[in-house]
Amino acid sequence: MIMSRLEAGGPGEHDPRGPSGHTARMKIPASELQSLVEQVLAHHGVAFTRAPLLAATIVAAERDGSRSHGLQRLAGYVSSLSSGWVDGAAEPVVHEAGPGLLKVDAGNGFAQVALAQAAPQLRAMAAAHGSATLTTANGHHFAGLWPDIEPLAADGYIALTMVNTRAHMAVWQGTRKVLGTNPMAFACPRRSALPVVWDQASSVMSQGDVLLASAAKRPLPAGVGVDASGKATTDPDAVLKGGALLPYGGIKGGSLAFMIEVLATLGGARFGFEDESARSPGAVTSNAGQFLLLIDPRRFGDGFLDRIEALIEQLRDAGTGRLPGDLRYERRRVAERDGVEVSPDMHEYLTRKGRHVSAA
Ligand code: NDP
Repeated sequence: MIMSRLEAGGPGEHDPRGPSGHTARMKIPASELQSLVEQVLAHHGVAFTRAPLLAATIVAAERDGSRSHGLQRLAGYVSSLSSGWVDGAAEPVVHEAGPGLLKVDAGNGFAQVALAQAAPQLRAMAAAHGSATLTTANGHHFAGLWPDIEPLAADGYIALTMVNTRAHMAVWQGTRKVLGTNPMAFACPRRSALPVVWDQASSVMSQGDVLLASAAKRPLPAGVGVDASGKATTDPDAVLKGGALLPYGGIKGGSLAFMIEVLATLGGARFGFEDESARSPGAVTSNAGQFLLLIDPRRFGDGFLDRIEALIEQLRDAGTGRLPGDLRYERRRVAERDGVEVSPDMHEYLTRKGRHVSAA
């Protein structure tokens, strides 16, 4: 029975990897998945008004094939909420710290909620001044970054965002983890196509993909991480248990991770090494910071979109087939037509964990 596998030590509700399906997958409409995920989040302490937003981020990742930050993260949200580490009902406070500068206190809630609260003001500032910067402190970001900025680029803005995480990486010849896997994402609008959006961790592989490899008992490619003694390893569990991930591009990835640690904590957020989650057993999210720079290219004159199309045409001419974001968009198109693939054990988990809310 599927449930007994989950509850007998496999990736389950107390494991950040969450339930992972190994059996034949079923397809369900994204709207149905959205309501299941909303119910689970609401049942575990996310305010009813906030659950749709958070659920949308998780469902969008699963729908678009970004599985490292899709449904496999839900159990991590649940255990972090249940442990009291994160406040699902937090009310963010948005403060205008200067012209074009928003400082947000997420109140120990989720960073996406804080961003949603600040977004109208951020857009208005960028439209008025040409650019606007947001820093969020005291927030938990446990998702991909592209959902935060794709809508901004769809409305014509250029957006750059960065998030620091718990310490997971050893950099610059260091032997222990100090910096996070600090992701950054960039979104550029296009004239009559979906925006170009890239989104990547500073590590060779995101922690989420290491968790997926561990759940599937799959070795990691060489160069992804080291074990607790600092020796190179391809064993995902050795990386997860006391080891460390390595930055992509060696020294250069370490430098980017450092920059992100600085920018994401500008508003007073914790550095990754200042993490206190060990005090809350079950906590897997990072209480850290987010940085977002929004630029309105229309304020810099005409012709921006034409220039971007000319650039992309050159790339195409040089042989570039897939732009960052293209694969996600293609998967999205297929999922919107055929439904989102979900394993039966995940479906069972979703219905069981959200049951009390749907029955209320
Ligand atoms: P990937 O290595 O999977 O992808 C990085 C980027 O490269 C994507 O934008 C992807 O586009 C693009 N790309 C990949 N292959 C190609 C190709 N052949 N041609 C063109 N573009 C390509 O990302 P990571 O594993 O580094 O990160 C995964 C996710 O983890 C991210 O969403 C990141 O935000 C998230 N993360 C979140 C953290 C958090 O604390 N919230 C911490 C660390 C990571 P496409 O999307 O179209 O495939």
